[in-house]
Amino acid sequence: MTIHFHEGDLPKGAGFGAAVAVDTETMGLSLTRDALCVVQLSAGDGDAHVVRLNRPGYDCPNLKAVLADPKTEKILHFARFDLAMVETHLGVAMAPVFCTRTASKLARTYTDRHGLKDVTRELLGVEISKQQQSSDWGAKTLSEAQLEYAAADVLYLHALRDRLTEMLQREGRLELARACFEFLPWRARLDMAGWPEDDVFAHG
Ligand code: MN
Repeated sequence: MTIHFHEGDLPKGAGFGAAVAVDTETMGLSLTRDALCVVQLSAGDGDAHVVRLNRPGYDCPNLKAVLADPKTEKILHFARFDLAMVETHLGVAMAPVFCTRTASKLARTYTDRHGLKDVTRELLGVEISKQQQSSDWGAKTLSEAQLEYAAADVLYLHALRDRLTEMLQREGRLELARACFEFLPWRARLDMAGWPEDDVFAHG
C-alpha cells in the first residue's frame, strides 16, 4: 500500500478507471459553517491518493474533473454528506454514486451497525482505526497518523461494494439500492437547501 500525498490538486490527467473510492475530511459536520479540507481517492488497487485542498479558492481542476467524470463510478460510505460538501465547496456534483452505507442499510437488516469500521470488520475481516476522525484536518501539515487514517477510509470501498452488491442481489434489493443511489445527489441538495432532517415524503 502506498499513500500518495498531493498539495492542492491531483496531478494533471490522473485517472481512476471505472470506479473510484472517495472520502472527504472536513472541519465539522455543518454544510454552512465547516470547510472541506481533504479529499481521498483510490482506484481499488491498494494505493490511496490524499489531496489537501487550498482554501478558500479550492482551485483544483484535476480533482474536480475526476469527481465529475460520468464514466467513473464514485464509491463512498455515507455519500449524502460527501456529495453535499463537495457540491457546496467545489461546485461539482458527483455522479454516478454507490453508497456502501446505504447498501449496508438495505442489505444488512440483521444489525443497526452501519459505520465503516463495523461493515469493514464484518464483511472483510479488516480492522480500521477511527482514532484520527476528530482531528484538525485544516492543519497546514497533516501528520502520518492522519494520512494513514485518511487512506484507510478509501482502501476497502471497492471490496465492500462488491460484497454488498452480492448481498443486495441475494435479498432482491439491488434495484431498490440503485434507485436510492440515483436519488442521493438530490437528498444532498435537500440538506443544502435547508431540509436536513425533515422527511419531505412523510405525512404530517
Ligand atoms: Mn473519512
